[in-house]
Amino acid sequence: MKVGAVAIGGDNPIAIQSMTNTPTTDICATLAQIERLREAGCQIVRVAVPDEPALAAFAALVAGTSLPLVADIHFDYRLAVGAIERGAAEVRINPGNIGGYNHVREVLTAAAKHGTAVRIGVNSGSLPHEVRTRFGAATPEAMVETALLYRREMQDMGFSNLIFSLKSSDVQATIRANTLFSAQSDYPLHIGVTEAGTLLRGAVRSAVGISVLLANGIGDTIRVSLTADPVEEVRVAKEILASLNLGRKQLRVVSCPTCARTSPELIFIAETTENNLEEFNDLPLKIAVMGCSVNGPGEARDADVGIALAASGAVLFRGGEAVELVPLSEAAARLTQEVRVLAASLTK
Ligand code: SF4
Repeated sequence: MKVGAVAIGGDNPIAIQSMTNTPTTDICATLAQIERLREAGCQIVRVAVPDEPALAAFAALVAGTSLPLVADIHFDYRLAVGAIERGAAEVRINPGNIGGYNHVREVLTAAAKHGTAVRIGVNSGSLPHEVRTRFGAATPEAMVETALLYRREMQDMGFSNLIFSLKSSDVQATIRANTLFSAQSDYPLHIGVTEAGTLLRGAVRSAVGISVLLANGIGDTIRVSLTADPVEEVRVAKEILASLNLGRKQLRVVSCPTCARTSPELIFIAETTENNLEEFNDLPLKIAVMGCSVNGPGEARDADVGIALAASGAVLFRGGEAVELVPLSEAAARLTQEVRVLAASLTK
């Protein structure tokens, strides 16, 4: 299936999603944020459409970006139909809160007419009362039961351009729900740990949940949910995919964990180098920043460019050879300069 120009599911690469947090009616700010997300590597952007003014703005957002937009709709099916008519590549609905069978049918009819994908979002916080009562709590099994119930309804209505998501703020529940559901369904899955938290905690919780699923072949699109700038969500998502060798090749800075053998300067050198090299993130380069002569020369030789600290300064390595001794205070700048030269030769 496709969400805009992005092919989803099967052997297609895992797509990265994020969601804007500017007011949807602020078209300039939202388009600027979408552009920042695109530059960071985001491929699909979800936008909340909570009311009529947001729906009016949504058309301008679709016109103003090349990325496929997903309209996030709750409660009012007319907003979903309106977003589809205004060019949404996908609408995300929860059939349980959109007003019943007939309203869902109206959304699907519009989606079928316009070729729009529909994401069925099952969230542990909003399961149907009957299912929740039957299972006693919002268990992973209850989430799966809900997703299967919605799937039956969609299929009865003859609609199959579907993506499912089963999300919980509990990492284990997210893993279990998606694992159980994927064993019973071939529809593409959007995965993520919802309400994961602020940058550090949220990144770790998301990485654990998403990675376990992806490593088991489950998941077609991902969102890292953070209480932070959405661009951070994309950065974390890219790191998750790169860690599993699933993403596009990208720049990787290998840096030692530090110990008593190195200078305290090393952390500063590693962080400064990483920040300096952000513009080259899309290049498939390996850069090493190592603290001493134990593992340093080996890792630095193995990298495209690297440094290994020594008693008298930092030894610069290029293409596997030690080429220069640099004062510690200049190490980050010299390493950056070396990568710039290499990047220029690659992008010629
Ligand atoms: S490379 Fe050297 S400084 Fe870094 S952790 Fe290993 S032994 Fe310690």
